[in-house]
Amino acid sequence: MRRVTKQGVLVLIVGLAAVLTPFLFRIWRANAERGGQQPAEPFRIAGNFYYVGATDAAAFLITGPEGHVVLDGGYPTTARLIMASIVKLGFDIKDVKVLLNSEPHPDHAGGLTVLQQASGAQLWASDASADSLASGGDDPDAVLPLRALMWIGVLGYPPPRVDHRFKDGDTIRVGPIALTAHVTGGHTRGCTSWSFPVRDGDRMLNVVSACDLGVLATSQYPEQGADRERSIRVLRGLPADIWVTCHARWWGRYRKFVASKTAKNPADPFIDPEGYRAYIDSAEAELRQGRMH
Ligand SMILES: [Zn+2]
Repeated sequence: MRRVTKQGVLVLIVGLAAVLTPFLFRIWRANAERGGQQPAEPFRIAGNFYYVGATDAAAFLITGPEGHVVLDGGYPTTARLIMASIVKLGFDIKDVKVLLNSEPHPDHAGGLTVLQQASGAQLWASDASADSLASGGDDPDAVLPLRALMWIGVLGYPPPRVDHRFKDGDTIRVGPIALTAHVTGGHTRGCTSWSFPVRDGDRMLNVVSACDLGVLATSQYPEQGADRERSIRVLRGLPADIWVTCHARWWGRYRKFVASKTAKNPADPFIDPEGYRAYIDSAEAELRQGRMH
């Protein structure tokens, strides 16, 4: 056994501080954001595709004659905002048949349990996300202090019931609604981007809900670099007229919503293939420069 020297102890303390500082900052920020999740006006993006999330924690409703789909649940406290938005748009939470998720972090999966209890909907997840969701947000790739806070209930959320697991490229259907899953890991192993067509009047629009492509200092794994490379490649290959992400500020929710009120066709401001490319470009620059977010 190696002797622990004073210097060793010092290195350990400095190392722990280096790990803990960004992590404590994140908790503070997460709490700040949770408090800042203000109700947002729900709106139609295009066709049967609606925004039902909060000011930043995004959630989407895709409606159909045989039942609806909700993508993402926000924080545990966001669920009631999402449900109020669904009612406000004239739909019934009980008609939501499928719940989907982009990633199992608490700001996007925290509210799924409440939504599932209110709707009875079936939750579909990728393998890696399924394990994390079913444990209430535990992430095996997260640093130990973060996991410990999860285990004692400071972080994390009530675990939803994961009904089905899908593979990369599978299509989830509810009547005519068909969303294709793209497991685009990097931010988390099982992070899932979604692509689906939306009929808006007489035109068909391709929608992509893209994963967060950035890396957190508190959650890293050996294949992460390769996953990010692949995810960037996959997303570049998807045709996107309309694009969204799990954080509404990244795709300009408010700006586009305001513009849609005076647009000739209210869906037009959401058609933004340039913004989609810029999002992927900036994720690639972040990867090349070794930056985190
Ligand atoms: Zn995340």
